[in-house]
Amino acid sequence: MRVLVVEDEQQLAQQVTDALTNQGYVTDTAADGEQAHYMAAVESYDLVVLDLGLPQLDGLTLLKRWRTEGLRFPVLILTARDSWHEKVSGMDAGADDYVTKPFHIQELLARVRALLRRATGHVSATLMCGDLMLDTSQSQFFYQAQALALTSHEFRLLAYLMHHQDQVISRNQLTEHIYAQDQERDSNTIDVFIGRLRKKIPAAYIQTVRGLGYKLTQPNA
Ligand code: CA
Repeated sequence: MRVLVVEDEQQLAQQVTDALTNQGYVTDTAADGEQAHYMAAVESYDLVVLDLGLPQLDGLTLLKRWRTEGLRFPVLILTARDSWHEKVSGMDAGADDYVTKPFHIQELLARVRALLRRATGHVSATLMCGDLMLDTSQSQFFYQAQALALTSHEFRLLAYLMHHQDQVISRNQLTEHIYAQDQERDSNTIDVFIGRLRKKIPAAYIQTVRGLGYKLTQPNA
């Protein structure tokens, strides 16, 4: 899952992106509203963490613009303490949730997980597909209750498929959601990662849909 962090305070932006990366998300950052607007137009994000006080274009205006343009990704806004009106205008502008600065990073991570679950139609923190389980609170996969050892790319790929199970996902879509903007991308490597995952869980879980992509599904379901 890929997250855009829009925050002009460099230290905070770094802290948030480090925490998200540790949890297995791929992250990009934007330090002003115009840059964020551009990035969301050209890249594919599953969620945006948006500070409201930004240079160039403020967060509220940016959020309204995104919603007018039809961008539907969940948006978690960062609001100032004691500023209830920011929360109200943020939610009314199309935000899905907020955290108040200063916040504990664990709270932000929990809200990110909840928003991503809801956006993909899941209600529980534990995603199941047959004997395969993703515990989103630990960022850990289990197969038949045994923890799986996955590289960060394998984890991102499998987590994306898990959130979108029973849907056909193209190689391009996978590429867009597992690499950050500054990483080199090659959609052929997706096939390599899929090959490795099929050795770590029964191959039947990941179906190849010829000409379209891949689908994670419960075998014989
Ligand atoms: Ca700010």
